Amino acid sequence: MSKGNAFAQVNERVAQAGEYLNLPKGLVQAISSCEREVVISIPLHHSDDIEVLTGYRVQHSSARGPRKGGIRFHQDVDLDEVRALASLMTWKTALIDVPFGGAKGGVTVDPSRLTSLQKEEIIRRWTRTLIHVLGPNRDIPAPDMGTDAQTMAWLMDEFHRLDGFQPACVTGKPVSLFGAPGREEATGRGVAQITAATLKENDVKVKGATVAIQGFGNVGRYAALVCQELGMNVIALSDVTGGIYDKKGIDIASIFNVKDLSEVVSDNRIGSSELLEIQADVLIPAALGGVINSNNMSKIKAEFIIEGANQPITTEADNELRKQGAVIVPDILANSGGVMGSYFEWTQNIQQFSWPIEKFRKELDERMEVAFVNVHKTAKKYKVDLRTAAFIVSVGRVSNAFTQRGSLL
Ligand code: NAD
Repeated sequence: MSKGNAFAQVNERVAQAGEYLNLPKGLVQAISSCEREVVISIPLHHSDDIEVLTGYRVQHSSARGPRKGGIRFHQDVDLDEVRALASLMTWKTALIDVPFGGAKGGVTVDPSRLTSLQKEEIIRRWTRTLIHVLGPNRDIPAPDMGTDAQTMAWLMDEFHRLDGFQPACVTGKPVSLFGAPGREEATGRGVAQITAATLKENDVKVKGATVAIQGFGNVGRYAALVCQELGMNVIALSDVTGGIYDKKGIDIASIFNVKDLSEVVSDNRIGSSELLEIQADVLIPAALGGVINSNNMSKIKAEFIIEGANQPITTEADNELRKQGAVIVPDILANSGGVMGSYFEWTQNIQQFSWPIEKFRKELDERMEVAFVNVHKTAKKYKVDLRTAAFIVSVGRVSNAFTQRGSLL
């Protein structure tokens, strides 16, 4: 993403949907704006000195329920990116019709240079400083890039110390500590299910369809595994350490547990950006934002692009690729399995009752299918692409909720 305009790019989509829905401009502006933005400092102790990091929580909307969204640890995190990601959560939760609004958090730090203890220090400080705006009925964090189930366990523990036992204060926790079996795989599973549904919708055989995936973290790893389980042929993978390519197909199950792809023995190593340009039926960017942009858009060959990551394609590249005939499934649909899974975990925590993984998977698959069908119906009705259709659905729902709550909201 070109730095500084990620939030503006989301808001262009919202404004466009507002025009299709004939919404007043002021209403569109109201639902596009962030309700609250908190910027904090996080002193990190080193043996000889203190380093001061910057942390964020942006609460974009509570029109449809408590705000919901992950926490990212990455060196490129800034306020504009967090705003963009927070707003995408509003549109995503509305699209899949779960009773949440949108939020996002972050800390500007390279997670690969942190010890486990430093990570714990950072998330505990983040939680303590933001405790007054968090809670199961206010704002519920979850993992994102650079954070994981362990990070969420520390967050929950800190929250409990300050405000008593409330496991629904955060999702994406370890299964052994009030997490939900199925949540960890949910985003990647949803991405793979949406990939299969997209191929079917376009009369392309799922079995044997070739897939290239950028990112082998939480989203990319499970997307790869489930794509393979569904019969697709994952021919290329990449992460921050580089990538691998095998036109006969990579056995994902056998490499699933590697720390990163540098551990995988392969005669055919490729660069991470080279992966994006590979000849494959499906391309799944599942790492960073903005990776498909004006520099490489003319070299992208995949017919189907499923956005596992948030905002992996710039607006300019999106327009150009669609002109070239690519079918692009937008992030707010493609990777919404994560927040759907978080919703299941939150409800189970509130009820103090847990579901077997089979029920989790069944509910996830069924609800993703409903969202997929709804986006396709809307695309046909308005004669628009899938991203525009997805925004029409979500902007319609959020504007309704905002209006129905009354003018004194
Ligand atoms: P993660 O930290 O688990 O994994 C990130 C992956 O990206 C790693 O494999 C890392 O090596 C790779 N990566 C980092 N820099 C790279 C580069 N320059 N080139 C290639 N690969 C690179 O993060 P994640 O949770 O899998 O999130 C990935 C994306 O999916 C993010 O955009 C995130 O916002 C989005 N997302 C995540 C979830 C979730 O539930 N985790 C839900 C929805 C969307």
